[in-house]
Amino acid sequence: MPDLLSLEPTRRIMQTTPIAPVHLASIALEKSYRKGDLQIPVLRGVEIKIRRGEFLSIVGQSGSGKSTLLHVMGLLDSPSVGEVLLDGDRIDDLPQKTRDELRNRVFGFVFQFYHLLPELTVLENVLAPLMIRHSMLSYWKRRREFRLAAEEILEKVGLTHRLKHKPNELSGGEMQRAAIARALVAKPEILLADEPTGNLDAGTGHEILGLLRHLNEQEGLTIVMVTHDESLARSAHRLVRLTEGRLELLSDAA
Ligand code: ADP
Ligand code: MG
Repeated sequence: MPDLLSLEPTRRIMQTTPIAPVHLASIALEKSYRKGDLQIPVLRGVEIKIRRGEFLSIVGQSGSGKSTLLHVMGLLDSPSVGEVLLDGDRIDDLPQKTRDELRNRVFGFVFQFYHLLPELTVLENVLAPLMIRHSMLSYWKRRREFRLAAEEILEKVGLTHRLKHKPNELSGGEMQRAAIARALVAKPEILLADEPTGNLDAGTGHEILGLLRHLNEQEGLTIVMVTHDESLARSAHRLVRLTEGRLELLSDAA
């Protein structure tokens, strides 16, 4: 296994993929929330094209709508106006069941507070999405294959020595590695990470960013990472800021 800890996350990624096809995009995306009789606008026309294999960082002040944008792009929520496109096809207006299937197949999610199930071991937490997705019978028939897949991804994130541990026996960095493994076990195309280092000390945050970069470079995973740490955000291919409901480009290594 490569030494993930020694990867240098602050080095800017030089080999970008400017000609890769657009993977995930939004057109004139708006989202407002209802508060009593008022509509509070959060997203006011977000335009973004994220290429296959790109690592995009989104920064912005607390409350600027970063989580909202990630949820709308990842089909966890619907836009008020505008479109979300996957490989050029509109996906936000599909029937609920199709959206759910597409979300489970295409997107992996990582959150600031891990959201691991405390009663389950690391291995069981990583297997949980596969258990939920398959019928009891089909899971049972394929349990060895699934277990191997879970162990393989746990090796990739450097947790082979923690398979039988419960979340409360892990450090913050280990919990986030377990959550990343869980997000990846069903082989998503796009990882949406909402403040994945927000609850970690600076050193551990760099390790997690190194792991995400490794997955982006080695597996070609498209990654959208929300963070309010601009120094971490700058190691992505492209850095945008969400401000007043729109995205502005801060840096582009392409
Ligand atoms: P960020 O992730 O950048 O901190 P959020 O996307 O969480 O911002 O929130 C943006 C704004 O939308 C905030 O003012 C927040 O209070 C509001 N908001 C978020 N989710 C909801 C919701 N489900 N209902 C009402 N208002 C919400
Ligand atoms: Mg947020």
